[in-house]
Amino acid sequence: MAKFSDIIGQEHIKEHLRNAISTGKVNHAYIINGERDAGKEFIAETFAMALQCERLNRDLDIYHENGTQDSFSEGSKEPGIIIEPCMECHACKQAITRNQPDIKTLIHEKPGTIGVEDVRNGIVSDVYVRPYSSKWKIYIINEAEKMSVQAQNALLKTLEEPPEYVVILLLTSNISMLLPTIISRSTVLNMRPVEDSIVRRYLMERVHVPDYQADICIAFARGNIGRAKHLATSEDFDNIKNEAVRVLKYAHEMETDDFVETMNRISEYKMSVDEYLDILLIWYRDMLLLKATNDAGSLIFKEEIRALRERAGKCSYEGIEKIIEAIGKTKSRLKANVNFELAMELLLLAIREES
Ligand SMILES: [Zn+2]
Repeated sequence: MAKFSDIIGQEHIKEHLRNAISTGKVNHAYIINGERDAGKEFIAETFAMALQCERLNRDLDIYHENGTQDSFSEGSKEPGIIIEPCMECHACKQAITRNQPDIKTLIHEKPGTIGVEDVRNGIVSDVYVRPYSSKWKIYIINEAEKMSVQAQNALLKTLEEPPEYVVILLLTSNISMLLPTIISRSTVLNMRPVEDSIVRRYLMERVHVPDYQADICIAFARGNIGRAKHLATSEDFDNIKNEAVRVLKYAHEMETDDFVETMNRISEYKMSVDEYLDILLIWYRDMLLLKATNDAGSLIFKEEIRALRERAGKCSYEGIEKIIEAIGKTKSRLKANVNFELAMELLLLAIREES
């Protein structure tokens, strides 16, 4: 639980939500659309807490009564108000411990899907109970893409005629799974990749990771702050990296069984194979870069310069590009539920052929 100012990047979303709070023009539904781990829950919880914050609401009421029309902005103390949850009032404290009665997170029985009964029980039958203490009653729906069509239709009824105090926050990593009628009734906030320099500062100053580790995490995260933090704070960072480097150095001469087993082992580190493949991609991009520029300074796997050079010497540009392509194909195959062993076998074949 945090303030808006603790959210890294996503300035456009923070500005939009702060503006909504300061003007009181809060929509009944918001869709926060962004990758897994990008921080959607963080933003939703901050927004919800700010809407409930007693001190902020009191300050805003006084401010609006005085009839001034100045805009609010971060850091503007005079004559405006900083739009942040105070973190100290009763409502904020309740929100921090996730006990705020007017902030509700939809729970669902089956992990893989949000069914119509979940929406009926959690929202439709509850929505006309007025908020206990504040102006707003907030429902947060995590992984909203898991809602069945029936569940979405049930929610739609609420969205068509929402009680004035209701705010529904739909968080999703795949907005295309939501009905157009839901999307058209919501304010869509698309998360954007955070700039590498900002991720770097965050990792070094707040997570306290060393330089070389930050480089790998940044390349791996591609602007996703949660992914960067996840890898940076993993106790297994060195294991994951060393294992990846071993695979990359020796894949071309590995037996299929050994390769499959190595790729399987990655689940021990709480990392998905999909994410692991992203780390392998960084290596091959390094190889391309090294071939093109011979500049070791801008490599991510700087420490492995000797191995990179050696492998790069044995692969053609085309060959490396083909491996990068093959990794991409492997990712889509796994998403399409192709047999794991088969997908790995095909990948290994592609690596062997080109190196
Ligand atoms: Zn507060």
